[in-house]
Amino acid sequence: MYTEVYMDIVNKCNARCFYCKTGQSNLSGYSKKIPRYDMDIEAFDRLVSHLLHYQIITPDCLFRIYNWYEPTLNPHLPEIINYMYDRGLRLDMSTNASVLPDFSKIHTCKHYEGILFSMPGFGQKSYDRIHGFDFETVKSNIRTTMSEIRQKGFKGDAYINYHLYQFNTDEVYAAKEFADEVGIRLHTMFAYFNGTRGFSEYINETMPVEMMTRASKDLFFYFVDELLKDKEKYDEIFKEPPSITLSEFCNILPGRGSNDEDAVASIFDMHSAKEVEELYESLKGGRDPRFERVHYWAMSYKLPMNHLFGI
Ligand code: SF4
Repeated sequence: MYTEVYMDIVNKCNARCFYCKTGQSNLSGYSKKIPRYDMDIEAFDRLVSHLLHYQIITPDCLFRIYNWYEPTLNPHLPEIINYMYDRGLRLDMSTNASVLPDFSKIHTCKHYEGILFSMPGFGQKSYDRIHGFDFETVKSNIRTTMSEIRQKGFKGDAYINYHLYQFNTDEVYAAKEFADEVGIRLHTMFAYFNGTRGFSEYINETMPVEMMTRASKDLFFYFVDELLKDKEKYDEIFKEPPSITLSEFCNILPGRGSNDEDAVASIFDMHSAKEVEELYESLKGGRDPRFERVHYWAMSYKLPMNHLFGI
């Protein structure tokens, strides 16, 4: 049985991060062509009931409700959070903190294992360059969120997931000060090509010059080759329990680098954990060995870079 599910509960994000698949879709206007979908409580109940009935997940499974989209945009989020508590499920959430959910509708946050606030720097200039939000609103929303969820019994791990770009390294100390003030952790990680063609183009040396020029001013690359030199060490660091990745439409995705456009099956066609395992096993074959590097690079978000700043 699976102990963890990664999934989206909505099919939109309101940010315009240049190096992210969803951000690119927003920037190009492609996302406007896709009708909005907010998973409601009936749809979530159908999913959970199926997963539990067929013992695909454990009764206390951890639902990480983020993959490609922003969960707070879904107006049904409070009901979904309450439902998880009532069914004994655990919750982990990532948010860009641009929007606040209706906390008055949330009964308890005792089942929250974690919340992470994804930040592209710590100043309006960095926000203009990546997310596109008002920075003061984001800070205020983080304060409010932490205060509200703590009042409702939150005892989990809360932290800022600070995306390091070349232009925002000098803002890290201010972020640390803010994190200390709010009483949460700061985790700094290198920003990268998130689900875009960039990973493979970089590795295959086929990246168009304009993109390479831009990326060379924004991203860090020096550590990428190092990741493969000590695979055993990084395999250990990146180890995580087997999980299922689902789209907001309850389709099984090959992994967290995919969205519903890459769906391989409906979870409702699966009637045991073994069937899901076999499906994932069948997807492993035939991978280009060069893409091993992509895997390590993508997992590098787990590596804390705080030591670079002595914090
Ligand atoms: S990186 Fe996160 S916040 Fe930015 S567009 Fe992608 S999903 Fe949205």
